Amino acid sequence: MAFFASVNGEISPAEQARVSVLDNGFTFGDGVYETLRTYGARPFHLDRHLDRLRASAAKLGIEIPADDGALGAELDRLLKRAANPESYIRMIVSRGVGEISYRFDRIHGPTIVMAARALEPIPEAHYRDGIPVIVSSVRRNSPRALDPAMKSCNLINNILAVREAQAKKAAEPLMMNERGDVAEGASANLFIVSKGALVTPPLNDGILPGVTRALVLELAKKLAIEARQQSVRVPTLLGADEAFITSTLREVMPIATVDGSVIGSGRPGPVTKKLLDAFRRYALAR
Ligand code: PLP
Repeated sequence: MAFFASVNGEISPAEQARVSVLDNGFTFGDGVYETLRTYGARPFHLDRHLDRLRASAAKLGIEIPADDGALGAELDRLLKRAANPESYIRMIVSRGVGEISYRFDRIHGPTIVMAARALEPIPEAHYRDGIPVIVSSVRRNSPRALDPAMKSCNLINNILAVREAQAKKAAEPLMMNERGDVAEGASANLFIVSKGALVTPPLNDGILPGVTRALVLELAKKLAIEARQQSVRVPTLLGADEAFITSTLREVMPIATVDGSVIGSGRPGPVTKKLLDAFRRYALAR
């Protein structure tokens, strides 16, 4: 079980890996990232994660000189070195090393970091019983301020919400957008099931276009489960038959309660279970 990191192509044990204190990722949070995981020791949907990484970087005007083949080869090298049965992977691309100033012309970059450690299994009880979530008092960043579609290293919005959730012993904070619609979690997308149909907030409600969210919508289509992308108000969430969050690490995770109020029967519902099962089968078959 090992934790290794690659910094611009140099691999070392993660605790020995070094980035400059003048790196804009450190001084300004000026970078973008992706969280991936492996199934069968292979990165799951590296293609979609790299597409999103490039889209995030493009919004910040950060150029990633390496092509997908080179990034994939470096990740393979890292995974071989770490040699974990399954890995949690973080990719970070910062603008590079600067002078603690807004003089972007003086920055040498980008800095490309990949880190891989053993994937920590999530207790099956969370899938069997569902998790408690809250609707956070912290609103999701407005797309007009810091677009949640960009997976940037500026995670303060998410950190504030997660701290509130942890103080309330909840597993995830759900955040409303500036209009008061429930947009997404701090590190997950939201789905509800209402009268047999799946509903998830649309991308223009100000959310991250989750890889798992997109796959769940694709699987729903294959399974002939009706799905709509539609804004979700708090009363709609509280009155849902089922609700779940999706993310790379948590797959399809049933929600048992929202702010202590029980969702549906309080147990993972049939649509959630069907999608979790379909998602796992899809992931393991790739
Ligand atoms: N929403 C936010 C804010 C996230 O940070 C994440 C993942 O970390 C997600 C949603 C889920 O995205 P994915 O399914 O691509 O992991």
